[in-house]
Amino acid sequence: MIFCDFRITFADFASFFLIANSMKIIITEFMDERAVEQLTAHHEVVYDPKLVDKPAQLLAAAATCQAIIVRNRTQVRGELLAALKQCKVVGRLGVGLDNIDVAGCEAAGMQVIPATGANALSVAEYVIASTMLLLRGAFAATDDVIAGRWPRNALSNGRETAGKTLGIIGFGGIGQLTGKLAKGLGMNVIAYDPVMKSDAPAFAQIGAKAASLDEVIATADVVTLHVPLVDGTRGLFNAERIALMKPGSILINTSRGHIVDVAAVAESLKSGHLGGAALDVFDTEPMPAEPMFEACPGLILTPHISGVTYEGNERVSFMIADLVLKALK
Ligand code: NAD
Repeated sequence: MIFCDFRITFADFASFFLIANSMKIIITEFMDERAVEQLTAHHEVVYDPKLVDKPAQLLAAAATCQAIIVRNRTQVRGELLAALKQCKVVGRLGVGLDNIDVAGCEAAGMQVIPATGANALSVAEYVIASTMLLLRGAFAATDDVIAGRWPRNALSNGRETAGKTLGIIGFGGIGQLTGKLAKGLGMNVIAYDPVMKSDAPAFAQIGAKAASLDEVIATADVVTLHVPLVDGTRGLFNAERIALMKPGSILINTSRGHIVDVAAVAESLKSGHLGGAALDVFDTEPMPAEPMFEACPGLILTPHISGVTYEGNERVSFMIADLVLKALK
């Protein structure tokens, strides 16, 4: 004789409820694993940090998901957007939305959620560190010192940071935080933002002067870009504008590729007009081997990492996990 126990416990009920309400979330690029676990506790999760590089698998997974979480490499447009037939939410592990067809997503009923502000401090610290390294110019001497060459005379004209003028292009979240850190170092801060009125409270709060684009370019010792990639910023720092920058000045781009003409930067460094440059973002990412950057003095190149630190990644990942869970309720 078979005895069946049909009693339903609260735990059975809860797990039935969870399964019945479970949705599918796909994560196509790297995310903090503890934030992934937070999502897994509520929904079915497909987490593959390399899914972005497997187009067929990505499209197949996209067809049945209710949420997709991406960084900046996954292009949520065209074929992928069309495949997201059941998707309700696009979580962006970062802030720039140039890899997402936001209007197309919204027209298809999807909410697009960026991690506003979560990695701003990482970017701002990268800008300050690059500023100090490039003005001082003494930190690439390790190999010479190891080899006993002692290049003390050659490095004795490094510049201090205090008293220099930082010109910020785009005075939003990251631009303002960078300005605040720069003021702490005794820098003068001027900023250009065509969307903000010159009497916007942020200028006075930070102690920055509102300036025109031409004024920033002509007077800043260090120019740093914090604008989105849109029609108005594409090609903003072309060869002509770079030539108008102060001799010996420094250009830092952590915003997006296509905003700075990097070939013009390389030429300007080699000619001795620019005194340094830090480039974190490129027209094509990952950037293939690029000989034009070889032997450029005062050049720092990084692989789109200014916003990615241990702490920044944690904040970005948990913010998006929370917001995606809320959006799926
Ligand atoms: P934000 O929206 O807070 O600020 C952008 C500012 O740019 C706004 O104040 C806007 O008015 C201004 N702006 C728009 N068009 C402009 C123009 N033509 N000239 C000057 N200013 C203009 O954004 P944010 O959080 O400060 O981020 C800025 C950009 O930084 C993002 O769009 C993203 O592309 C980039 N970013 C890069 C990384 C990285 O790891 N490299 C990380 C985070 C953000």
